Amino acid sequence: MLKGKTALVTGSTSGIGLGIARALAGQGCAVMLNGFGDAAEIENIRANLAAEAGVDVRYNGADLSQADQIATLVGETVETLGGVDILVNNAGIQHTAPVTDFPPDIWDKIIAIMLTGAFHATRLALPHMLAKGWGRIINTSSVHGLVASIHKSAYVSAKHGIMGFTKVVALETAQSGVTCNAINPGFVHTDLVQAQIEDRAAAIGKPVADAARDMLSEKQPSLDFVTVDQIGALCLFLCSDAASQITGVPIPIDGGWTAQ
Ligand code: NAD
Repeated sequence: MLKGKTALVTGSTSGIGLGIARALAGQGCAVMLNGFGDAAEIENIRANLAAEAGVDVRYNGADLSQADQIATLVGETVETLGGVDILVNNAGIQHTAPVTDFPPDIWDKIIAIMLTGAFHATRLALPHMLAKGWGRIINTSSVHGLVASIHKSAYVSAKHGIMGFTKVVALETAQSGVTCNAINPGFVHTDLVQAQIEDRAAAIGKPVADAARDMLSEKQPSLDFVTVDQIGALCLFLCSDAASQITGVPIPIDGGWTAQ
């Protein structure tokens, strides 16, 4: 379905981003991976994905909190893969603390990576999509782009912010063949959530499995985690012709979290 197309997926060395990159590559899309991690492990991921899918897969380790590195990332994607047809703004981090204790430098970092970083990647990639008359921008927001939880002020602010950005980009591109949407996952069992589960296990003095169940029962009515493959499949749908009139909207994939 995506043969001849190219995608840049930020924060794709693990978790949701890697799941999305795998889904896109599986449909014939060339992919630029991005994110942090052990160099040998990342090379392994890159080489395996390229071999499994039979597509060109590259990697650039740009820090999404740095505008100049984002420019290099987008530039290298265009230069090596021939364009950026699909941009997935996915890189993200989490930090939990009450507002009064929230470290200002971590606030700045979260906003920089998850909101300002998405702005830079989009403003730099969009002209390449407009030139071809086709493009897909998918912003990994969260249920926390729609509702709030305590102790996540920076995260919830960044994720709500990206919802506004998604709508503006959708309106500005409405007649261009480009769509811009947000996906809003509930709990997905990735490294980012594992850290929260472990913190909770330590706080309540229970095993990690009990803490995971606790966490789900508080928020996610399905009592099950969303999988990265399900998110990959949702992104493929958004890249299909069937989704060409879907733009500027949040798409929850959350086991009923935001229905409450
Ligand atoms: P993860 O920790 O597995 O992945 C985060 C990715 O972002 C990694 O590749 C990491 O290296 C990269 N990254 C972090 N800081 C970066 C930076 N400064 N520059 C470039 N890359 C950076 O976590 P995940 O759960 O897969 O999170 C991916 C996205 O999904 C995030 O935006 C997160 O907020 C969002 N999300 C996650 C969940 C969940 O339950 N896991 C739910 C909703 C939304």
